[in-house]
Amino acid sequence: MSLAGASPQSSQTAAPAPTAPPLALVNANVVNVRDGRITGKATVVLRNGRIESIGTAPAPTGVATLDLKGKYLLPGLIDAHTHASDLAAFRRALESGVTTVRSAGVSNYVDVGFNELVKRGFAAGPNVITAGYHVRPQIAPEAFLNNPEYADLMTGVTTLDAMRRAVRMNLAHGVDWIKILATERAGTPDTDPRKQVYTEDEIRAIVTEAATRNVPVQAHAHGEEGAMAAAKAGVRSIEHGTYVSDATLELMKERGVYFDPTYTTVIDLTEAGGDYDIAALRIRGEHMLPRLRDAVVRAHRLGVKIVTGGDTAYGPNSLTRIGQEITHFVEMGFKPLEAIQSATLVNAEMLRLEKSIGVVETGFEADVIAVEKNPLETITTVEDPVLVISNGRVALNRLAFGKQP
Ligand SMILES: [Zn+2]
Repeated sequence: MSLAGASPQSSQTAAPAPTAPPLALVNANVVNVRDGRITGKATVVLRNGRIESIGTAPAPTGVATLDLKGKYLLPGLIDAHTHASDLAAFRRALESGVTTVRSAGVSNYVDVGFNELVKRGFAAGPNVITAGYHVRPQIAPEAFLNNPEYADLMTGVTTLDAMRRAVRMNLAHGVDWIKILATERAGTPDTDPRKQVYTEDEIRAIVTEAATRNVPVQAHAHGEEGAMAAAKAGVRSIEHGTYVSDATLELMKERGVYFDPTYTTVIDLTEAGGDYDIAALRIRGEHMLPRLRDAVVRAHRLGVKIVTGGDTAYGPNSLTRIGQEITHFVEMGFKPLEAIQSATLVNAEMLRLEKSIGVVETGFEADVIAVEKNPLETITTVEDPVLVISNGRVALNRLAFGKQP
């Protein structure tokens, strides 16, 4: 007797992926994050994961409605630097108003896997722009469980050839970005974040290899030399940038390199609890924080494009959220609209997704959040979204608990 052709699956039909029913948001104040104009009493129809229409006509018949009662509708926020690695973590990101994240390195390609669940409709979001394993001299050893054919890289990624292969290892998993270490880490007590890790030529080899698949590179760089090398070598974003000089910032502006300061996580270094609770890191954080603040202020003044990134894994103890990053940008001199743009349309542009996310406009993805107050007047309102919709699916609805206008 042959078992061929009698696989147990053949007699069963998989249930179709769930689809989001159409939904009309009524009585919304829609914030245009391009210019700060607000459209009142708006009806926003979401269908098939997209924004179908925005206008003042009543909701179409037969479509469920949610009455926003004058609350302010913004595009879903973008976290350009996450290490979220399990379902609960992605959920925490989503409930904070983040509908798109960019992975900044994670084990076992869970960024790729989770994004696939979102694309198939099994999770509302956030959509994940993937990176796979962080390319650095010592790649996380778990990488070789996923890629045993690259096990020789366990001895170190220190030659140009090894760097190109480490990039190809990630590209084979379909990642959207390559993440590299241009300087040492800040969040580990025995590394100095100012120490350069890869040279300009080495980073250029990585950038060139990634470009064979049109994949951009994000460079972790606290120290000046590593950040300058990364900017010269052609990376698309500098992560952290604590000790960057004006010369590096000017080069970043000239070359269109985005700055993702992940400021809120450095605050976490300086405080008890959160992701980091180690005395040595608290001392380091107190040294870093005013310098990073100064770097952000200088970058803003020079006109470097600045984006929001959390640099948290959204674990149960995490105190870092994108809403707080936006608020801190305003404390550092951004206009509220500029800070919101850093979390929406500027971030979408960095991700090359400016035609699909980052604004509330017809045809864009149905990624929206509602906040209680006008965020252009009261920026802290973005720290507490009362409605989160991702890919047309309602992920959080606390409208009933908000103050009524
Ligand atoms: Zn990070």
